[in-house]
Amino acid sequence: KVRVRFAPSPTGPLHIGGVRTALFNYLFAKKHQGDFILRIEDTDQGRFVDGAEDYIVDSLRWLQIPFDEGPGTESAYGPYRQSERKHLYVEFANQLIDEGKAYYAFDTSEELNSHRKDHEAKGKTFIYNWHNREKLNNSLSLTSEETQKRIASGEPYVIRFKSPKDEELHLNDIIRGNITIDTNTLDDKVLFKSDGMPTYHLANIVDDHLMDISHVIRGEEWLPSLALHQMLYDAFGWKAPLFAHLPLIMKPVGKGKLSKRDGEKLGFPVFPLEWKPKSGEAFSGYREEGYLPEAVVNMLALLGWNPGTEQEIFSLNELVEAFDLNRVHKGGAKFDPEKTKWFQHHYLQQMDEGVLTEQFVEQVLKPKEIAAERLDILDVNKIVSLIKERATFVADLWEQGSFFFEAPSGYDEKASKKAFKEDSPEILAKITELLYEVQDFSAPNISERIKGWISDNEIGFGKVMMPLRLALVGEMKGPDVFDIIAVLGKSESVKRIKAAIK
Ligand code: GLU
Repeated sequence: KVRVRFAPSPTGPLHIGGVRTALFNYLFAKKHQGDFILRIEDTDQGRFVDGAEDYIVDSLRWLQIPFDEGPGTESAYGPYRQSERKHLYVEFANQLIDEGKAYYAFDTSEELNSHRKDHEAKGKTFIYNWHNREKLNNSLSLTSEETQKRIASGEPYVIRFKSPKDEELHLNDIIRGNITIDTNTLDDKVLFKSDGMPTYHLANIVDDHLMDISHVIRGEEWLPSLALHQMLYDAFGWKAPLFAHLPLIMKPVGKGKLSKRDGEKLGFPVFPLEWKPKSGEAFSGYREEGYLPEAVVNMLALLGWNPGTEQEIFSLNELVEAFDLNRVHKGGAKFDPEKTKWFQHHYLQQMDEGVLTEQFVEQVLKPKEIAAERLDILDVNKIVSLIKERATFVADLWEQGSFFFEAPSGYDEKASKKAFKEDSPEILAKITELLYEVQDFSAPNISERIKGWISDNEIGFGKVMMPLRLALVGEMKGPDVFDIIAVLGKSESVKRIKAAIK
């Protein structure tokens, strides 16, 4: 059975790169009727940040990519926070020690630094492995009684993995293919620290094993750890999961990885939700900027993956259907904030109009204290349907349609020079008369009446329509004039036209 996990460390808000990792895990799991697991990797207590776990959970909820197992769900595989699984890691670290595959090391950081310097002076890099192992301050030359005595006396120690000498490691990655590593280039990595906590490496593979993880899908930055992870699986005699390392997400302009500061510099969010810590830096999020989760998911899915067709618009279900790890790219994926807006525009158009109208009323009109009787008279739903095409966000509806709610307080200067001519007052006065005559005040009826009069009198269409639009809107923008008149209603339309020719 396919079982995949998203395993963030709660060290701050979840960057959009982390969200993409979660999404790809989710899509892969659902495509194969598998399980998507959230595991919180909180063993590095120095980097733990309050509120980060909730942020992660809220983000997945907002994006509608829920986990099947994770903190708060009951199952034989839990608990899902590594800090609640400490006892397991001790046990497995001891197993490796007993089998001679790992050892205690007592080096202080001063000692390690001086080794590094000595090597540098000779133009070499210091690698903590069999090259140097014998010379270092570890337990390999001690009896186990001596080792235990030093530990009992409170001397700081770590447990290191004994990486093998002169071996060729064959690794495989679904996206990158076969990778060969010379073990002589590898350090004896730390598995366990004297604070009683495992390092990421040990905890991660113990949990992936115990949780029956079938595929590890994670960011490329973890590729250098793959050799150690494979060696640990071998050391324990466990079958390793399959691995897929996702390409880096790159800055939209220039070179390098997308960083959390790029968003601020370039004016777009790189976090799903707003992050407002009690202390420290705050960041805005896609949700608060008015994006729909569908747009963010669609944008993220195409960051490093392609469907092999021209299709760009994908619902979550369509993504599940189309997703394939074999179509994930190796090379970095350029982040494109403009494309996100393009998706957002698309999904805003798809929204149920009633829901969109309600959001417009709640988020925009009510805070602006538009008079209630005005809202009663106006068909806001109709207004939304007339103007939404030019809106990317709910807030844009105001920009496109504020004139429906507030009569123009002046007229755009350039436009009025072009539109208001000497004969405009006379023409507009006639229009008000025509409007009075229209019984059933619908856009087609109004249009028929006015257009009929225009052609009967052989007046230029622009001579009528331009000043009329300006009188109603204040600018040369907005939907069809006859639609505007119908929505505003007879008395408001006439009032605005009269105000323009006063
Ligand atoms: N805790 C690691 C992280 O923060 C997990 C890496 C992995 O998926 O193995 O990304």
